[in-house]
Formats: sequence, C-alpha cells, structure tokens
Amino acid sequence: MDKAEIGLIGLGTMGSNLALNIAEKGHRIAVYNRTPSRTDDFVAKAGALASRVVPCESLADLAAAIRPPRPIIIMVLAGTPVDEQIAALRGELAANDIIIDAGNANFRDTMRRFKELEGSGLTFIGMGVSGGEEGARHGPSIMVGGKEESWRRVESVLTAISAKFKGEPCAAWLGTDGAGHFVKTIHNGIEYADMQMIAEIYGILRDGLGMAPKEIGSVFADWNKGRLNSYLIEITAEVLKADDPQTGKPVVDIILDRAGQKGTGKWSVIEAQQLGIPATAIEAAVAARVLSSLKDERLAAERVYGGGVVPIKAPRETLLKQLELALFAGKIAAYAQGFAVMAGASKEFNWNLPMPTIAKIWRAGCIIRSQMLDTMVEAFGTGAASTNLLMAPDFVKMMQEAHPALRHVVALAMEAGSPVPALSSALAYFDSYRQGRGTSNLIQAQRDFFGAHGFERIGETGAFHGPWGQG
Ligand code: NDP
Repeated sequence: MDKAEIGLIGLGTMGSNLALNIAEKGHRIAVYNRTPSRTDDFVAKAGALASRVVPCESLADLAAAIRPPRPIIIMVLAGTPVDEQIAALRGELAANDIIIDAGNANFRDTMRRFKELEGSGLTFIGMGVSGGEEGARHGPSIMVGGKEESWRRVESVLTAISAKFKGEPCAAWLGTDGAGHFVKTIHNGIEYADMQMIAEIYGILRDGLGMAPKEIGSVFADWNKGRLNSYLIEITAEVLKADDPQTGKPVVDIILDRAGQKGTGKWSVIEAQQLGIPATAIEAAVAARVLSSLKDERLAAERVYGGGVVPIKAPRETLLKQLELALFAGKIAAYAQGFAVMAGASKEFNWNLPMPTIAKIWRAGCIIRSQMLDTMVEAFGTGAASTNLLMAPDFVKMMQEAHPALRHVVALAMEAGSPVPALSSALAYFDSYRQGRGTSNLIQAQRDFFGAHGFERIGETGAFHGPWGQG
C-alpha cells in the first residue's frame, strides 16, 4: 500500500474534521486515536475519503505508515496529553520528521517543547487553528510558529486546507517558537470580548426592551448586513431564531446562563498583564464568564438586592441604531487591545509579528472573521496603526462616529441595571486613551505621600518629593 504523506493523532472534533479536510485535498493521511473505537467510527463515516485514510492502531503503526520525513499533526487535549504524545512519538520517529502541535497550547508550553526537542533532530511546529468544527472540515485559519524553514516544508498542505479570502490562503508563518500559539491565544481573547459584548447587547434588548429571542435574532440578522458583518453576529442571529424541539421554546431560553472556558481567554489576560498592556475589554469578558459560573451565588444575591432590569424607555428604532454603533465601537476597542498585546509580545519575544498578515489570515475561516478585518489589513499594512489601531485614520473616523453611541448605551444600561462590563471597559479604555491630561498626577502624589516614591514635576527632570504633612 502507498505510504501516507502526513499523519494525525487525535480524532476528536477538530482532529477528525482536519483529517477529512486533508484527505479531501488529495493527501493520503495516516490517523491514530488513543481510543481505537473512535478510529473505527472515523473511518466508517469518512465515506469516499476513506480510501485516502490509513487507520493505525499504535504510534509505531502510524510512523510506519507515513513516508519519511514524516509530518505528524497532534490534535489532542492541550497540556499534559501533548507532552505524553510527544514523548511516545519520539521513540518512533527519525531525524527530520516534523511534529505539529495544532491544539490550543499555552505558548509558554510551546516554547518549552521547542527547547526540549532542540538537538533531537526532530522539527517542531506550534500551530494555532481557528474555525471550530466547520472550519477544521472546510478551511480554518492557521497560525504557524516555528522555524521558517519548517513552515516551508509543510506550507503547501497547510495552505491547501486553510480557508481562503478572495483566493488568498488564511494560513501563514508568524514567527519563531511560540508565535503561532500566542497569536491564537489573543485571537481567542478578542473572541471572548466580542462574544461578551454581543451578549451584553442581547441583555439590553431582552431585559431593557423586553424583546423576544426571534425579534432580537432579526435585529442581529439586519446588523449582519452592515458594518457589523461578521461570523459571530451571523451565528448569534441564527441561535436566537432556533426553537428547542423538546419544548418548542426558543433554544436560548432553555439554556443555563453560565458559560465555561478552557484557558485561552485567561492566558490572554495574564500575558497582557505580564507585558503591561491594557486589555480591559478582554479582562472584563473573562471575568464575566467567571461571574456567570457563580449561578447559586447570583441567585442568592438577587434575593437580597433584587436583580430586575428597569425597562428602557427610548424610541426603538433610534436605540437600535445606537446599539449597533455601540457594539461597533466596543469591537474596535477590543481589536485595538488585542493587537496592542501582540505588539508588546512581539517585542518581548523577538517575534517580529507581521500584523497585516495576522489581520489577513483572520478574514476567513476563524471565529472572529469580520468585515472590519479587511480595513485592518490596510491600516497595519500602511503603518497607520503602528502605535495603536485607534490612531489609524480609518478607525479614527469610525470611532468618531461610533463612540458617542457607546457612551449613550453604556449610560443607559448602567442606569437600567443591565450589566455591560465589556462595553463599559472598552469605553473607559477609549476615554482614558484619548485623555491628554489624566488623573495619575494624584496617584503619584499619593504614592509619594505614603511610600516616598517621589514624583515627576511637569517640565523638569528628576524625582521630587512633596511638602506632605503640613496641614
Ligand atoms: P475533543 O474533546 O473533541 O477530542 C479530544 C481528543 O484528544 C480525542 O481524540 C482524545 O482521544 C484526545 N485525548 C485526550 N486526552 C488524551 C490523552 N491523555 N492522550 C491521548 N489523547 C488524548 O477535542 P477537540 O477536537 O475539540 O480539541 C482538540 C484540540 O483542539 C484542543 O487543544 C482544543 O483546545 C483545540 N481546539 C478546539 C477547537 C474547537 O472548536 N473544538 C477550536 C480550535 C482548537 P480519546 O478519543 O482517546 O479520548
């Protein structure tokens, strides 16, 4: 039998779809899964593509089934399972074989794995994949980290299976070692903020305006035709229109209001803090998920304080326009923060991250794909966004139009008691960013008062101390 060109370990949601995608593009692929029944199911459901799939019962079989030098994709649960797979694979592989970790690894683990494999003769790639099940099957966005020559060796298969935006593949090499997984982490951080802000607007429509899910779904569907056009808005509209076959009720109404997380949002926030880059909308979104999980405490607090949202009385059409603009402004701020964190990391880790390329490969396939990314490609490409996306002329124009609506909506929601943590954090970031003289003069004075930390005087150099304790 002909040898396979590539291998894949882990036939879960992502791995199985990625394997079918690879097979569909004409590549013969060897597959292995820890639980053998999953491999059998996979082959049984592969249809005509099964002829390009080589099922393997062990890692030794997998290695034997692939033509050297072997590229092998690992798509298992992130963390220890990846280390275990790498350790087990090492005994089966030979020099020049390529291990590609395609799961949602913490980029610090990826950097460690690069170090551990140094001198082994094996090539390692840390690859972020976005697009969920559908993306994996028909074209995800692929963010690659590792040596550039390693990327060149797998470029043709990765670009073939990736999403295409107007014919351009959404797969690229972004830098050495952890660069790909870092960019994927920040992609997910932006995704957290985007989803949270959409949920906050849904909350205003549901609780403040008393709208039914299907009505709200139609609003999102309308918005998807305009400046907010994006995958997340599109699926939100669909979700809100769906009914539960069991009860006939709207599906959103029978879903528990607590959301889980696997780690990438939290890592985005930790890394932003480590780098000293404000990412307030992402931080608020991660905190909101944590708060959502405290269901029992929230129910108890509602009994103590009351939790009702005061009905919002405003002309509906005008308010809908403002909500659309508010979401747009919040989204721009979230992207600005995500890109700023990547710029900080790029310097810290010497990655030289190509921002226009990142915006390019997020335009299709991935969860945060949106119309706005095309304008970002331009803004980063010309250098107009090199300080901050908020300073690129196209985005200045958009923010000037949209930020008053964000302010109005946040004020309205706060007045009504409808929580808007991500939208209000985005607004506070914007307001602080555009304030030429802020209030940290007082913070400097306080620090000097209690800790003799000194302060800077306007127009003078050196550290000064205050005349504290005189009155
Ligand atoms: P699934 O839960 O669907 O599948 C998990 C896979 O990991 C299974 O093949 C499972 O094997 C394997 N696995 C788990 N633990 C071990 C272990 N200790 N040793 C060997 N194999 C193990 O996960 P997904 O496909 O959703 O996710 C895979 C990776 O892709 C994760 O890193 C995830 O974060 C990432 N990802 C997921 C996305 C999504 O939308 N789902 C999007 C982008 C990335 P077994 O059948 O034996 O249990």
